[in-house]
Amino acid sequence: MTTDRIRAFLSQRCHEGPCHVVDLEVVRDNFVTYRRSLPDSQIYYAVKANPAPEVLNALAELGASFDCASVQEVEMVLAIGVDAARISYGNTIKKERDIARAYQLGVRLFAVDAIEEVAKVSRAAPGSRIFCRILSNGEGAEWPLSRKFGCDEDMAISVLEYARDSGLVPWGISFHVGSQQTNPEAWDGALASAAAIFREMRERGVELGMVNLGGGFPARYLRNVPDADAYGAAIRNALLKNFGNRIPETIIEPGRGMVGNAGTIRAEVVLVSRKSEDDDLRWVYLDIGKFGGLAETMDEAIRYPIRTARDGEATEPFIIAGPTCDSADVLYEKTPMELPISITVGDEVLIECTGAYTTTYSSHGFNGFPPLETYVI
Ligand SMILES: *Cc1c(COP(=O)(O)O)cnc(C)c1O
Repeated sequence: MTTDRIRAFLSQRCHEGPCHVVDLEVVRDNFVTYRRSLPDSQIYYAVKANPAPEVLNALAELGASFDCASVQEVEMVLAIGVDAARISYGNTIKKERDIARAYQLGVRLFAVDAIEEVAKVSRAAPGSRIFCRILSNGEGAEWPLSRKFGCDEDMAISVLEYARDSGLVPWGISFHVGSQQTNPEAWDGALASAAAIFREMRERGVELGMVNLGGGFPARYLRNVPDADAYGAAIRNALLKNFGNRIPETIIEPGRGMVGNAGTIRAEVVLVSRKSEDDDLRWVYLDIGKFGGLAETMDEAIRYPIRTARDGEATEPFIIAGPTCDSADVLYEKTPMELPISITVGDEVLIECTGAYTTTYSSHGFNGFPPLETYVI
């Protein structure tokens, strides 16, 4: 939904090219909602979703901690005055010199999913806490995370033992159930694995203290999704079921759910056309596409709501594409999108729920188009 504040801003500013506006009031509301729905979990905002300093600052003021994936993200968070104790270096793939740099900056919490990575952390960040990421199948997620991150249960046990033997503090388990996870029950399976690892480690003399529940909390795009309370309740039940009276400290790392619904992109229709006289479907070309920030339309995974001033009129399906000369720059073709039949060149459209995973994906001058112009209000 485009808030009144965003509408007012757009009517006064942004007259050339696509323009992205994030409403901090929505971000703050989201934070408060997560804190209420999961009161026992520390909130580590996943910086990559939207690293705008205003967003980081608003969340820091509310007491958020931060999940960073690079030294640069660590520096962005430190730059707004957050203590390094509130930062987790959550990427399992790090150069040793970046680990060393983060350690120098005060970071003491690192993610790993391989013995080789533990070895780097033990050399570059001695004595730090580590958590081991385990695989998750990503079922139920609209943007699943594949097998790139995490290891299986047995390997996690080896990783944690190796961490202890290397002088690190084996602190817990993490997983990510897949981004835009529409099933609140999706945490149960991963929590069963986490609990099994906790038990096994206890047998081996290591008392783990933390489960990092990852991100995955959805934004409402075209389809309705369960609310934060439904996720809170399902996660609490899964923790009780798997850990009983020994529920560990927990962390959540919302990215999309924290900022997705806070942003809107104002774009413009550049061309409406057909490929032949008897073509059933017309194409709508916008002045923004995959390379302007809408990269998550890859495989048509994320379907953004597109609003026009003609909403309410009769609609038909259109193929939607971006303005660049790359043929991959098509947003919705397998499943075309309903738009008003009368949509025409020069129409303004609002692409909603674009607060997450857009600004940083916009290319630097592909075809000469500037990066997405973005404002935080
Ligand atoms: C990207 C990421 C997140 C955020 O995921 P969302 O689905 O956007 O909430 C959380 N944790 C880690 C480790 C990530 O890489």
